[in-house]
Amino acid sequence: MDFALTEEQEMIRDLARKFAREVIAPKAAEVDAKAEFPHDIVSQARELGLMNINVPDEFGGTGGTVLDLILVAEQLGWGCSGIGLAILLNNLASDPINVAANEAQRKKYFGKLAEGFGAYALTEPGAGSDASAIKTRAEKKGKEWVINGQKIWISNASVAEFFVVFAKTDPAQRSHGITAFLIDRGTRGLSVGKPLAKMGQKASPACEIFFEDVVLADSQRLGPENEGFKIAMKVFDRSRPMVGAMATGVAQRALDEAVGYAKERLAFGKPIIEQEGIGFKIAEMGMRAEAARLLSRRAAWLKDRGENNTLAASYAKAFGSDTAMWAATEAAQIFGGYGYSKEYPPEKLMRDAKVMQIYEGTNEIQRLIMSRRLSRG
Ligand SMILES: Cc1cc2nc3c(=O)[nH]c(=O)nc-3n(C[C@H](O)[C@H](O)[C@H](O)COP(=O)(O)OP(=O)(O)OC[C@H]3O[C@@H](n4cnc5c(N)ncnc54)[C@H](O)[C@@H]3O)c2cc1C
Repeated sequence: MDFALTEEQEMIRDLARKFAREVIAPKAAEVDAKAEFPHDIVSQARELGLMNINVPDEFGGTGGTVLDLILVAEQLGWGCSGIGLAILLNNLASDPINVAANEAQRKKYFGKLAEGFGAYALTEPGAGSDASAIKTRAEKKGKEWVINGQKIWISNASVAEFFVVFAKTDPAQRSHGITAFLIDRGTRGLSVGKPLAKMGQKASPACEIFFEDVVLADSQRLGPENEGFKIAMKVFDRSRPMVGAMATGVAQRALDEAVGYAKERLAFGKPIIEQEGIGFKIAEMGMRAEAARLLSRRAAWLKDRGENNTLAASYAKAFGSDTAMWAATEAAQIFGGYGYSKEYPPEKLMRDAKVMQIYEGTNEIQRLIMSRRLSRG
């Protein structure tokens, strides 16, 4: 067993760390307050190769591994997980293409990602955890498809130039009746709602998408008919370690901020870090952040080796995001009254951490996956 990173892995991690500290972190509060997509920061990340990590290099991406992606995700999460999401969301749009696209689709849509943005549209107002219950309908009419329905909470939708959309092609079936499509922005009948008002991660806008008699050529179908659910699940095996890593970055940031504050803040004649009750909180935060880091790295490593990582990806996502939420709450406690102020970091860390327990499959759903896998023996 070798825990060491290669020289290339260290290079991309260090590049992301520098970017997170020098470019993202100083702007994070302002971007959060404005709740605007940070085009300038995202363009810089794109230039540095920190954005389209899983897009092959022949199509203008970084051509990195899942491990490369999570090394970057942790650092960007440390800087600001909202800006991190705005930057890394293209990997959620590129993964279905990696999994299922033909050559023409790879050329066209990886090309769009190299210059712009994509989004991943699975969730609907009536179906999130139970993705097989989606109602958006794709009906075959001759050689074309006609799509009607609605999606919600689609991250980066306001800037995306195309959407990976999952629709029911055989409503009598549940998961076996779903097909994936690539739909360009500007296609007649497709409209994107205004960004929804969110608690945190405000740099990445999440919107509704509406489909009203959207007509598509069969060439816009991604992968085989009725195999869309399998594509969605394969994507989660890559994206869940990424969320776990970004959450690890939030947990590490909460720890770093808490240590800095606890060394300075005096109570009862000494820095509060020297009070055992606070020192032990710090110890626990360090221990859990390290465990979260190792879980996301292992989940990514298994995927890169071509091994099944579904259980490991669920561990990484659930433990990472639970750790981020817990650590941000502990940091607020360590800051005392200032922890409740919008002027200090824990408040934003708490708001940003919360959603990571919800998206990419809630942590209840992760535990459902774990218990099913574990009961198989
Ligand atoms: C900011 C944000 C960004 C998002 N970005 C995207 C995106 O880019 N693309 C996309 O497709 N989706 C996106 N989502 C959607 C997200 O993945 C869903 O919200 C999530 O999967 C939960 O679905 P739901 O909201 O319908 O909740 P529900 O499925 O209605 O769940 C409600 C509650 O019930 C629990 N629950 C449900 N079923 C079970 C069960 N069997 N056992 C135990 N508990 C259960 C859930 O854990 C949850 O606590 C985003 C969401 C948010 C908030």
